Amino acid sequence: MDCVDEIFALFEHHGKSAYFGEPVSQEEHALQAAYFAAEDGAPEALVVAALVHDIGHLIDAREDAADRGIDARHEDTGCQWLGRHFPPAVTEPVRLHVAAKRYLCSVDPDYLRGLSAASVKSLQLQGGMFTPEEAAEFLRQPFGNDALRLRRWDDMGKVAGLAVPELSAYRDALWRQLRPRT
Ligand code: FE
Repeated sequence: MDCVDEIFALFEHHGKSAYFGEPVSQEEHALQAAYFAAEDGAPEALVVAALVHDIGHLIDAREDAADRGIDARHEDTGCQWLGRHFPPAVTEPVRLHVAAKRYLCSVDPDYLRGLSAASVKSLQLQGGMFTPEEAAEFLRQPFGNDALRLRRWDDMGKVAGLAVPELSAYRDALWRQLRPRT
């Protein structure tokens, strides 16, 4: 199975599960995040990153590892898995999307107030808000700004019943963003 088919299979088998305390499924959440990225004029690599940003949760579900610890660090699982096939423009915003939340909470009180209850709860498991030193360090990362953009679409992608393009609409974009074979 090629990588793009594998992504489709992950969504097919594990995408219907609920997205932690939100009124959407994992797949709906992913499709909405990608939709908002495209609406915002994001480059295709970042739209693809938005689509697959939580794929670590689907991999954990496949491997039945979701309850192996208090925080399975799905951003690292996803980044590593995707990194076999996709370049840093896709994998780095995925890896940093949880850190982006910790950053935004530390610098933007409105952002913190606007988080859903489930997202506030997971913030604690993810290490809480950044210290000023950690926040400065975050901004120095090459894809930090992309991760901040992704985070906003991530937070928006929790709308029950929103009509957005389906997964098949992204097949060509996924193919185009694969790392060229050497
Ligand atoms: Fe998400």
